[in-house]
Amino acid sequence: MKMILLGPPAAGKGTQSAYLSEHYNIPAISTGSIIRRNISEGTELGKKAKSYIEAGKLVPDELIIDLVINRLAAEDCKDGFILDGFPRTLPQAEALDKNGINIDKVVEFNVPDEEIIERISGRRSCDSCGAIYHVISNPSKKGNLCEKCGGKLVQRADDTAKTVRSRLEVYHKETKPVSGYYKEKGNLVTVDGGRRSVEETSVAMWKALGVER
Ligand code: AMP
Repeated sequence: MKMILLGPPAAGKGTQSAYLSEHYNIPAISTGSIIRRNISEGTELGKKAKSYIEAGKLVPDELIIDLVINRLAAEDCKDGFILDGFPRTLPQAEALDKNGINIDKVVEFNVPDEEIIERISGRRSCDSCGAIYHVISNPSKKGNLCEKCGGKLVQRADDTAKTVRSRLEVYHKETKPVSGYYKEKGNLVTVDGGRRSVEETSVAMWKALGVER
């Protein structure tokens, strides 16, 4: 199963990708997490990407496309993968085709902009395993610590009120056309993730995918 998750920031892609990864037993690959790791490790990619990510802009295609194509060639992707955060532009989607990577399903999560702005301010993630929480709708039972690994819960540097507006603008302009690209190919399913709990969104996602749970 080769899958893509589309949707605005904080639409639930990261959370649902963990469930999909467990169900299909394939890796969930988040380009945002890969870039953040490169920034914290101070790699060349990290140095080049930092200013873009902090401004809520997209990292240029030439920095991200080869990285993803190489990642998908790894042994753990032989039975499939879930891409969370890629492709975010039409050239990125075309790069998958050009490299013979045929996608089976594209799931798009739709959440209204006003709700995204509310969600972003409460989002927290574990600085150790990357698990995602929300202070109100999905709090950790261990307070400021991750339920799964005990790591510290932190707010992402780009989850600010100022940056989210730029990220939403970029989403509508650059990423929304990607869903039209897959709609035309006939492998797009949409899930309404607005005003829904994590569990309700999961139920809608499995239904859209035709998976009995
Ligand atoms: P995310 O964790 O998916 O919300 O991504 C955080 C940030 O990483 C984005 O706002 C972009 O700056 C950058 N990023 C992640 N994936 C991509 C991509 N496919 N193309 C360009 N920039 C990306």
